Amino acid sequence: MNKYDYLDIIDEKSAMLDGLADYIWDNPELNFREYKSSAALIKALRDEGFEVETGIDGMETAFSGSYGSGRPVIGILGEFDALAGLNQEAGALTQKGDGTPGHGCGHNLLGVGSLAAAMAVKKYLESHPGAGTVIYYGCPAEEGGSAKAFMARDGVFDGLDAALTWHPANQLSAQNSRNLANCKVLFKFDGIASHAALTPQLGRSALDAVELMNVGANYLREHVKSDVRFHYAVTDPGGAAPGVVQAHAEVLYLIRAPKVETVMDVYRRICNIAKGAALMTETTESHVFLKAVSSMMPNQVLVKALQDSLEELPVPQPSEEDLAYYRELTRTSMMGLTDADPENPLFITAKPLESLTQRFGSTDVADVSRVCPTAQITGGNYAKGTPGHTWLRTAQGKTDYAHSSTRYVGKALARTAVRLMEEPELLAAAQAEYRESIGPDGFVSPIPADVKPSAD
Ligand SMILES: [Zn+2]
Repeated sequence: MNKYDYLDIIDEKSAMLDGLADYIWDNPELNFREYKSSAALIKALRDEGFEVETGIDGMETAFSGSYGSGRPVIGILGEFDALAGLNQEAGALTQKGDGTPGHGCGHNLLGVGSLAAAMAVKKYLESHPGAGTVIYYGCPAEEGGSAKAFMARDGVFDGLDAALTWHPANQLSAQNSRNLANCKVLFKFDGIASHAALTPQLGRSALDAVELMNVGANYLREHVKSDVRFHYAVTDPGGAAPGVVQAHAEVLYLIRAPKVETVMDVYRRICNIAKGAALMTETTESHVFLKAVSSMMPNQVLVKALQDSLEELPVPQPSEEDLAYYRELTRTSMMGLTDADPENPLFITAKPLESLTQRFGSTDVADVSRVCPTAQITGGNYAKGTPGHTWLRTAQGKTDYAHSSTRYVGKALARTAVRLMEEPELLAAAQAEYRESIGPDGFVSPIPADVKPSAD
């Protein structure tokens, strides 16, 4: 029994929740094509008595489930998309994937842990009618598609008093870091095809333009702040024959910086470099702005409240069988990775809260954090040292401990959401901090109004 009896529903429904996480693991789907995963989560929300809305913000696999009435309105964010190439046998000790998609970021757990939280808050609201509203948001395409950033731009989260979420990880704590804003842009060059040896003078190479653009961009690195990052992938080299002058080529750029204004300025300069490459090669250039995210603004009041919940609720212990697996996996495939420890392979207890830091990844939760007070937990679901976006995460995604640690995070999220309903001064402090942080202009989306969500 929990001290807060509304949390008990999470363990009472453990078979359903664990089964759902396994079903999503078994059916890994890429961004904006999460048809089975979203359908399974939608069915669970309906079965549990939530009022469900599907296809929100024009995205087939985005949905919400709400329950309750009145304020505060607390949003709980769930994700469920997989990653290309990271399929794996559950419980594998060495890499055995077949190159198809897999849950190497743990979103099979993420969507279900958040659902568990929403269910427990609903349970609380059943005996406290009018105490508030909980809304579960099924957010597609976190990997590469940044659906939440579009949803935030389009007003989906307007009206929320606060939002909570989590992400599977190796270490349990409230997450207290800023991330980098970013934008993703596809540059396309068109030239003139020709025989590269017989009539080279007639050819205008789009591939040359891509190469010269990348050279120019690499020189730009000398003249940006040290915390700016940009990377590219040649997504279409134009062909595989060196005897042909390539008439079309494409390169994808991902630009990151702590401030979205810096991202947009570097983007502008890279556009000029692309124009220069086109001029040098007598090709034509065009580009498509695909997506952007803001930088995360973790609400310190909510971060502290999440940490309090983690420190208050008892953390589940792994079974001997699971411990043996994590030890063996660490010995076999993870020695030398940071923190990897074959004797004590899990952190288990919550790490003390760290002060606010800058991290160098990006997340679309950031755009929600600019609409309302937002904070998240990192769950201790994987062995110490397990890197994100690898087969090692996929392999650990169906253990009993993955399930019990996911349900545990659901309880901590629910406990925090209920505190926001029970303690108006806590919510007021979070909202005062939000207003102060966001400033007088409010949230300005980095995604232009005419850009639509798209799969990579
Ligand atoms: Zn992720």
